[in-house]
Amino acid sequence: MGDDPASRIYVNNKKKACEYCGIESFEYAMPAETTHEELMALIEKLNNDDRVDGILCQLPIPKHLDEKAVINAIRPDKDVDAFHPANVGKIMIGDYDFLPCTPAGVMELIKESGIDISGKECVVIGRSNIVGKPMAMLLLHAHGTVTICHSRTKDLAETVRRADVVVAAVGVPELIKGDMIKEGAVVIDVGMNRLADKKLVGDVEFESAAKKASAITPVPGGVGPMTIAMLMKNTVKAALVHSENK
Ligand code: NAP
Repeated sequence: MGDDPASRIYVNNKKKACEYCGIESFEYAMPAETTHEELMALIEKLNNDDRVDGILCQLPIPKHLDEKAVINAIRPDKDVDAFHPANVGKIMIGDYDFLPCTPAGVMELIKESGIDISGKECVVIGRSNIVGKPMAMLLLHAHGTVTICHSRTKDLAETVRRADVVVAAVGVPELIKGDMIKEGAVVIDVGMNRLADKKLVGDVEFESAAKKASAITPVPGGVGPMTIAMLMKNTVKAALVHSENK
């Protein structure tokens, strides 16, 4: 929707990933002036299109449109972003079809690195519906002891210093410094922040944090590609479910 340059990059990367996986993708680049009715009509059409297993509306959308209504309109079994309240509720009870792509990608990175979350002090910085909250829930399901920090947290540095596993999803460039990281901690940086000089940096100051961490993800090239990989996984899963039900 509209002409957000970051959204354009994300959509192009997702299209490329689909091509790589052999998933057919249909792009609907809608102008910023699109009305609520037009957008709803498109979602309805895709909901009823048997060729379509997954639907994704790249956020953010223009201010005059209702993001919540858009998320609610996507059929839950085609909701490959896992933003629909029905899918969010399923994640809460640990009985889910789809996981939201970014937190799922973080869990996959942790698992593939042979890191066991059970009993670990996990600190998630950020409480958005898209990243922070589901991230905390997945770490809890993996038996971590989870703390969620946000903009009102009294002593962020002291809380992060307790963590065996730190997940930063804040959107503030290099907020988390090396002196806030416990020796040997695992540090996952979800942040993607574009500086004035166009450089892309995370929410963690990589140089100083890497000196303390036992494992750390870079930005770019860490969580970002995992997010897209999980989107592909959700889409394949949706296609399998739909083909079983045909
Ligand atoms: P968001 O909706 O803006 O949420 C940011 C969260 O950080 C909020 O909960 C906010 O607290 C908290 N926060 C802000 N300033 C803080 C501070 N100084 N100290 C502690 N907490 C603070 O952002 P989001 O959508 O979750 O995204 C977070 C970052 O991840 C962004 O950089 C985004 O670009 C990136 N991201 C990356 C991927 C990927 O694929 N790698 C995917 C999604 C997002 P309040 O709730 O109190 O306001």
